Amino acid sequence: MSSSLSPLSPQPAHKTPLEDLTDVIHFLHARGWTPATSSNFSCRLPDGQAGFSISVSGLDKGTLTAQDFLDVDLSGQVIRPAQAHLRPSAETLLHALVYQQFPAAQVVLHTHSVNGTVLSKLYEAEQGLLLKDFEVLKGLEGISTHQTELWLPIFGNHQDMTVLAGQIEPVLRQQKPAFGFLLAGHGLYTWGNTLAQAKRHVEVFEFLFECVLKLRSHGYPDYS
Ligand SMILES: [Zn+2]
Repeated sequence: MSSSLSPLSPQPAHKTPLEDLTDVIHFLHARGWTPATSSNFSCRLPDGQAGFSISVSGLDKGTLTAQDFLDVDLSGQVIRPAQAHLRPSAETLLHALVYQQFPAAQVVLHTHSVNGTVLSKLYEAEQGLLLKDFEVLKGLEGISTHQTELWLPIFGNHQDMTVLAGQIEPVLRQQKPAFGFLLAGHGLYTWGNTLAQAKRHVEVFEFLFECVLKLRSHGYPDYS
């Protein structure tokens, strides 16, 4: 009688952290949150090395592979001479900012959804969006009740990442815990202490963005 534990049975494939991250990127792409080669993604280097791996700029996120990442230090400079000819995303500095501000963060996910982009324009003047009394807020790490008020900051977009980082850094420094921010007309940055947590945070925010837009369309007072 054969056993399912036979040593001849195929063993489950062990994926690398970048392969796991790539799976999540494909999921986000399938949801329509990374259109037209936009968006970028990173995870910290293994074994406590200072720095992170970030997706190479300009690639379709639906076909990105674990080979399409660059290793950079915490100032965004390419670490490995063999990768010196590759171009890190322009937004590498913003990933670096998150890792510097949140020592426990392991993964940063930056997406460009329609709902996040529309809301970022609608609430740009307020410089943020208040999310409160939604059960799904409990999907954010450490939040245990829907009776939560979360301020999601919105920053004006800028092509100079040094300028942008200079605007974002003091806000993040004061707002702990923080789970993300929007760039106006651009997209969402969120992060997590694990890949699963970061993915969950994208899903929470995207769910809430859709709720807010629908409530707004119904003239709900908090979002009129
Ligand atoms: Zn972007």
